[in-house]
This record gives sequence, C-alpha cells and structure tokens, in this order.
Amino acid sequence: MSFSSAEELNKIIDTKLPNGLPQFVWEEIELAGQKYEFYRRDILQCVRALYGDPELAECLMYAPEKHYTGPDKKSRIFSEMNSGRWWWTRQVGSHLGRSHRRSNYVPQKELEKEFPGITIIPVLLSSDKTRVVLFGTKTAYPVYMTIGNIPKDARRKPSRRTHILVGYLPTTQLLHVSSAASRRRMLANLFHHCFSRILDPLKHAGKTGIEMTSGDGVTRRTLPLFACFVGDYPEQVLVSGCKTGQCPKCDIDRKKLGDLDTQSSYRDLQKVLDALSTFDNDPAGYSAACSRAGIKPIVHPFWESLPYSDIYLSLTPDVLHQLYQGVMKHLVAWVTTAFNKKDLDARCRCLPPNFNVRSFTKGITSLSRFTGKEHADMCRILLGLIVDMDLPNGVSPVPLIRSTRALLDFLYLAQYPVHTSETLQLLRQSLHDFHANKRVFVELGIREDFNLPKLHSLVHYVKSIELFGTTDNYNTEYTERLHIDLAKDAYRATNHRNEYAQMTIWLERKEKILRHQSYLEWHLGNKTRVTAHPPSMTYNGVLTLTKWPSRRAVDFDEIVTKYGAVFFREALRRYLVLSKHPGPELNRNQLEHAILYMELPFTSVPVYHKLKFTTPVDSARTKHLTLDAIYVRPMRKSKKGLAIPARFDTALVNVGLGKETGMEGATKFTSMFTGYSGINRLPYRADSSGIFVARGRGPCTS
Ligand SMILES: [Zn+2]
Repeated sequence: MSFSSAEELNKIIDTKLPNGLPQFVWEEIELAGQKYEFYRRDILQCVRALYGDPELAECLMYAPEKHYTGPDKKSRIFSEMNSGRWWWTRQVGSHLGRSHRRSNYVPQKELEKEFPGITIIPVLLSSDKTRVVLFGTKTAYPVYMTIGNIPKDARRKPSRRTHILVGYLPTTQLLHVSSAASRRRMLANLFHHCFSRILDPLKHAGKTGIEMTSGDGVTRRTLPLFACFVGDYPEQVLVSGCKTGQCPKCDIDRKKLGDLDTQSSYRDLQKVLDALSTFDNDPAGYSAACSRAGIKPIVHPFWESLPYSDIYLSLTPDVLHQLYQGVMKHLVAWVTTAFNKKDLDARCRCLPPNFNVRSFTKGITSLSRFTGKEHADMCRILLGLIVDMDLPNGVSPVPLIRSTRALLDFLYLAQYPVHTSETLQLLRQSLHDFHANKRVFVELGIREDFNLPKLHSLVHYVKSIELFGTTDNYNTEYTERLHIDLAKDAYRATNHRNEYAQMTIWLERKEKILRHQSYLEWHLGNKTRVTAHPPSMTYNGVLTLTKWPSRRAVDFDEIVTKYGAVFFREALRRYLVLSKHPGPELNRNQLEHAILYMELPFTSVPVYHKLKFTTPVDSARTKHLTLDAIYVRPMRKSKKGLAIPARFDTALVNVGLGKETGMEGATKFTSMFTGYSGINRLPYRADSSGIFVARGRGPCTS
C-alpha cells in the first residue's frame, strides 16, 4: 500500500486525483446581526463537467425535435426534454398558443436568428429542505443541478452522477427575530440571495453564449438557460414569491382552487418584473406595486434577471409530493371514511398474493402514516377494494367509484414515460371526470370544498409535459435518493463541528474517488456507455423461464391432483396433434379421433413454477426488468415442517383472437373457458403465447 493511514490516503486523494468538478466556495452572509455560512460552486463549471462527460458523449441531445406518431403529423409525441415545446420555442421562437403568449416571455428575437446554430443547454435546479436525521436541530439544505441535454434514462440513475450538488444554503429559523412577518420576509430574501449567487454565471452566459466541449471533443457555441425548478410545494411558494395557499403558477383565486372550470392564466412575468423594478427607484411604493402584481416584496428574486426564462413556466409538476403524498393521501382518507372500515380491511386481507401487489395483512384503515412506497402500493389495490361496496344510507357509490378511478387514471397517466397528443387528452379527461363526480364527497359530509393547492396543481400537468417532456424528466425522487447518498453520508463523516466545511471536503474527495473508479473501469474496458433511445410507443415484452425446470419430472396424476390441471393430459394431446396437423388436412371428426387415441410415450413432464414477464433495459446489473410474474406452486413443507400454502396466480391468456392490448382478447378467452367442461368442444389452441395457468389460491377445481 502506498499509504498507512486514512490521513495519508486523503492526502493522496487531495493532491494526486484530478476532479472534473469545481471546488466549493465559502461565503458568509450577514443577516439581522448574525453570520451565516453558505457554500456554492461555479455552476458554469458544473454544466461544463456534465456536458463534457465522455460517458455521456454519445447520448447528449443538442437540438429541439418534434416527434409525431405518423406521417400525417397530427399527433405529437412528448418524451425527452428536447421533444417539448420549451426548447423549440427558445430556439426557433414559435408560439405556445394564444392564451399564454403574453405571459410566456417568449424571446422577441428568435435565438436561432440571433445566434445561428446555437446549442441550448437547459439547466434544471432542484432543492429540498430535507431534515437530516443526525443533525438534531440543524438541517442541510442542498441545491442540485443537472442539464436537459442528458437523456432522462441517464439522469434517473444515481450511479451516473448526473445531478451535481451546487450548494448548501444556510438554514436558519431566524428565531431571534421577534416579528413573524419580517422573519418570513428575511428568510425569503436570504433564499433568493443565495440562489442568485449560485445562478449568477448564467445571467451573462445565457445572453452572450459560451463555448463548450462535449465528451467527444466537439466544441459548440452554447447558451445555458435556466429551464426548470424542481421542488415541493413550500419550495415552489418560496421561489415564486406567492402566498402559501395560492397556486405558484397561475393567478387563480385561492377560494376557487377546487374548481376546474374557473379560468386562470399563468402569472404575468412582465407585470411582476415591472413591479420588482420599482425597488431601486421607488422604495416607498415598492410593496404596493408588488402586492398589485401578486408577489411578495422580495428584493431581487433569483429569476429576475435570468435571460429567456419564465419562472412560472419553470415550476414543474411533482408526482411524489403532489400526487402520491398529496392528492392520493387525501383520496385514501376520503374513501376509507366513506366506507365501512371493517369491510375494507377484510377485503385487504382477502387479496391473493400477486407480483407487484403488496398484501396489507392488517388492512389499510388503521395505518396512520405512510411512506411514499406504501402510498404507491395502496393505490394499486384501492379501486379493486371498493368496486362493489355499498355506501351507508343507500347513497349511490357510482360517483365515488368514478372519481376514484379518475384520480387513479390521472396518477398513472401522469407517469407515462412517453405521451402523445391522445394520451394527454386522456390525462385531461380523467381530471375532468374527477371534477364531474367529486360532489359525492360533499354529499357524504367528508369534504366541504376542494380548495387544495395540490389538487389544483393537476391542472398544470398537461402544459408542463408539453413544455418540458414527460414528468420523469423532473422527478423529485431522484434527488431525494441523492440526499440519502450525499447529505446524510457526508454529515456522518464529520465530527459534527463546523460540519459544512468538513462535508464539502468529504464530498469533493468522494467525487474524485468515483471519477477515478470510472476512469479505471474505462481503462479495463468494463464501462458501458449510455446510448440514446428515440421515444418509442412500443413495449417489448419477453416471457422468461429459468434455465432448469422447478421440478424435473412430475407425474401426470400429480399434475391433476396437486396442480389442479385436471385436463392437462387431454390438452397436451390436443396441442401435439394440432402442432402436427396445423392445416385443414384432417376434418373435425378425424381430429377428435386422433386426439382421443393418441398415446403419450411418457408419463411425466418437467414443470416450471414461475414465469416472468420482462422487458429489456440498459443497465449494468441486469439485462431485463421484471414487470410481472406468475407463480404456479402446490402446497409444500418448509424445512421446519410448516406448511407453505399453495399459490396459483390468475392469468388471462390471449389465444390470438384478442387485440394486442387491453381486455378484449381476455374476455373472449373467459367465454371459451366456460365451454371447457365438455372436453371435446375445447376450443383451446395453444400457440406461441399460450400459457396454461390454474386460478385461485388452492388447486383449481373447474
Ligand atoms: Zn395554477
């Protein structure tokens, strides 16, 4: 070893390993007689590091694109950030539609005319005031950045390190300031001041353009522009300067938030900027001017002088906080209040085991706090639980089912990785369906109104997807993962005194090690490069089995008794005869005769207990991602002699008569299944996709 202590190792890291990222700069801010520490990095250097990463060179996106589902160009596809209208508008200067044109701050001169061939770099920022558990009373307030040129697939993977920590904002409650109003104002000013310091380099570079070299060695003239701010509701309120309870994006009345039909438009950036500009000339009238424009009197908000950006467009939907922890949390509470709790829990316990479905053995009504994962698990079963339950006092459950279904539809549609004009219309429609049926919750006395900012935020999803691509481009969950990886680990590595200085050094060392590791992997030829995938609407499903069967030889009798496949022998004979004579050479009678008298030259078959539905993914660890699985396993004994119950999953099989997707093929199958008792009329024809699965928990009897 070239070192004998941690100290020596750190010295080697500090002096010998190169770092592609800039060092942290320490600043001190004085506010209300106290000093606060603030760490930041040069954001342009961070952009440069991401843009120039050789691993990403092959997949970077340099220009806006328009994708359509067909040559008639009627239905547009939205997926990656460069497929959205924001990028196109900034580059070519088209319009976003009449209703938003005035407030959109569309560049007067198209950038393409001003800087021919310029490459836009959309900068995405995110921050989240996460309480670090070990901190005690203190909180870490990290700010991350990434760029929209990197495909979302790569941005999603923490291992690719495409989100860079650009700063730790000072966290303080300013408890020594006695007036709550001035405390809030000072905190907002502090936030915006620090963000301004971080984004300062963009103010100039976004106007004049700078040269940047991508990982393949090509130098382009680029324009780094602030594009999106990703954060939860309190952060959005802080960023936009609106009041808590209002919509940060539009000017809707807070008493009308629950109303879908109320017309509202995006906040008028120009009006707000005009009001803010009075600060230097007319300090006395400043507050009043801000109030008229609908913004709190913030001294120079960070987005004030960022070129070609509109903060009200830049606030992106937030699936985790707005949908799962917001609207869905409310919905589960409303539904469990509406129905009989005991019945709901009983239904929960009855759910058969299923891949991807968590069993809530204690029910869902007694749980008081949920994690994001639990919310997602609950949403999967919610509609199935309530679908034919009765409401008290003979109230019709139909509108309740409809509104629940509509919100769930919205939840899942909102997370599509690729949208078309049609699926966006479905998204609009599901929101409309909820609002058309929501009255039932008022009638049941569960709600008085629906003036919830998170529910209102759903109104803005379609527009945001059209602007910046699908919601997986700006998901807060990615950076939540990073908090765990970076902020918490970094804090643990300190001795809890003067922690920020130690944390930043720890972080810089960690980044150097990761970079070096990446270099070594490249050197050894182990590195997988990120390649770009064009947006695709097709799903490539693959059925996979294990290499060896779960049991090598199972007797036919056992297949009937233990696996419940009563007509297995007959079905197998039919399959074999039909494979041998696929054409019309045998008439019906001859066929049945051949099946009836066919001798099987064996008495047992190998059996597989699990069948997986997978889809190919580009990942270092696995080639396939499991989407679903079917289990067929008779009862068995554990090593301790305890009985493990049998599991026979339900499968609906498309025997080639149904459509490619949806239930239509399955419905046909069910009706055919009914005719199953008369074996001679069995219309089952196994083809390449024919799967034979028994149904229910125990061995099937029908
Ligand atoms: Zn709004």
